[in-house]
Amino acid sequence: MKIYSKFEADPELTEWGILVPLLKSRATQICEELENDSEIQGRVGVLRDYLLTKNDIISAGHDENFVEAIFSNDDAKIDPILQETYELIKADGSFNRFDPMQKKRRFHELFLCQLAEASNSYQCAKKALQDDGQVFYLSGGMHHAMTFGGRGFCLINDAIIAIRKLQRENLIKTAWVIDVDVHKGDGSAEMSQGDDSIITMSVHMKNGWPLDMGQGPWSVPSNIDVEIEDGDNERYLVHLRAGLGQLRDDYSIPDFIFINLGGDPYEKDSLKSSELIQLSREQMLQRNKMLYQFVSDLEVPTLWTMGGGYGEHSYETYVDFFKSIRAEVRAADTFEVV
Ligand SMILES: [Zn+2]
Repeated sequence: MKIYSKFEADPELTEWGILVPLLKSRATQICEELENDSEIQGRVGVLRDYLLTKNDIISAGHDENFVEAIFSNDDAKIDPILQETYELIKADGSFNRFDPMQKKRRFHELFLCQLAEASNSYQCAKKALQDDGQVFYLSGGMHHAMTFGGRGFCLINDAIIAIRKLQRENLIKTAWVIDVDVHKGDGSAEMSQGDDSIITMSVHMKNGWPLDMGQGPWSVPSNIDVEIEDGDNERYLVHLRAGLGQLRDDYSIPDFIFINLGGDPYEKDSLKSSELIQLSREQMLQRNKMLYQFVSDLEVPTLWTMGGGYGEHSYETYVDFFKSIRAEVRAADTFEVV
């Protein structure tokens, strides 16, 4: 496995007046920890600057008017979209963990951060194919973004964008999206519905997401949905193993696998909407190692992304995982994507 981080760390969300508990960048914390590990030290690579085009986003299935708006560099068009994506305005018009007085940057810049993130996911996906191996990108996993627009902190869907671009380039025909973020990968399911070339599997809280929204495009099922009952932490790994077995048995082995390794099932995660699953640090490690064994046995090029994970302890589970496979972490080489 090779590990890559962003070309440039994003500013904190508080720069836009958004008050969510991300604190210091998880990727920065992880890189600092890995630099203290004598075997992994110096092996994390930094990605070159690269941006997807407007056409890449539209060709992936995102609505053309939505894409035109986010690329417009026009605050009047972008601000309502970002406010909805980050859930900043409640139904009654009041602010939700949003303080405009603290906002120092234009939402256009936040769009550029999300575009860079999705672009990096694509770069790393291509690298996994070039290497015929596994790549871990220390960000990404924008799985709530849907055809019509952004949701749940995710503006555009990096998994579907990367897969469909690789398909257009004739580098792959089929892909699996394996999503173990605590929230359902509803955007990935919605964007790939009816497309047999993309098989989605999501392991998530049965309840609690989406927040009080009833039926809608977010109800579109994944090919395999593994729903964990409230607090059923002890059987989480049993359910995951069964889901992976079903995926392997019921579908053809794909050309590429995209993993969303959400850190938010962790019991020390601080996001309120993730508290219906509370896995221990050891259970998180077992989960991640089970997935690693699964894709390693299949020998399919795989991109790992980080997905959700909030608060000051979120980085720990990723560091544990990398250390557990430290002998297989190879030095990341620089590469160009054309
Ligand atoms: Zn999540």
